Amino acid sequence: MSVKIAIDGPSGAGKSTIARSAASELGYLYADTGAIYRSVALYCLENSVDIKDSETVLAALEDIVPTLKYVNSEQRVFVNGEDVTDRIRTPQVSSAASCISAIPRVREFLFRLQRSIADENSVIMDGRDIGTVVLPDADLKIFLTASAEKRAKRRYIQLAESSNCPSYEKVLEDIRRRDENDSTRAVSPLRKAEDAVELDTTDMTLEESVKTVIRMVKAAVKGGEA
Ligand code: C5P
Repeated sequence: MSVKIAIDGPSGAGKSTIARSAASELGYLYADTGAIYRSVALYCLENSVDIKDSETVLAALEDIVPTLKYVNSEQRVFVNGEDVTDRIRTPQVSSAASCISAIPRVREFLFRLQRSIADENSVIMDGRDIGTVVLPDADLKIFLTASAEKRAKRRYIQLAESSNCPSYEKVLEDIRRRDENDSTRAVSPLRKAEDAVELDTTDMTLEESVKTVIRMVKAAVKGGEA
């Protein structure tokens, strides 16, 4: 029986870093669903698809075949056979992903891909609606949070290594705008599943967060076996 762990939470809460490390330690696959939304957003940006016009985005979906491959347990995202993994992390793609993810048919389109990964593997899957919509039957649901200021600070430190790093204020503003978009959209808004456990990492180091998640997974899986 495969194990399904859902981790949801706002942008910059550390979901992907924590989920990736915990999955590697536990021997599970790590599935980053944000990367799938980002790949569709990238296609739109690179093909002059107006992301503000949902009809145009929906028409473009017919030309988009997103797929995931795992190379040494690392997720790579492909669109129409092209590996786009290294191009989906820009601020432009972040905003575009937040925008297209509010379109219900975009979410339906990506649902089957996400679900099939979890059906075939023991997985830690992170996103916004994994515990509420994609894996409502998950063995454990974690809602990972941290204050907006702490999340912006962590993101700013990451971005500071890149050549055109935005200011801290701009990073904080982006985080707040994406929080607002993700939690107020009509379909699959970001919210904690009723049976999810909340983990606030504002005052935790990365190592502490990873250890806590691993402990929670082990307890949940053991509990399920008993
Ligand atoms: O997690 P990440 O920041 O990479 O996700 C990019 C965007 O994709 C988010 O801002 C969110 O709008 C959207 N997303 C989503 N549902 C998911 C994963 C991501 O709506 N399961």
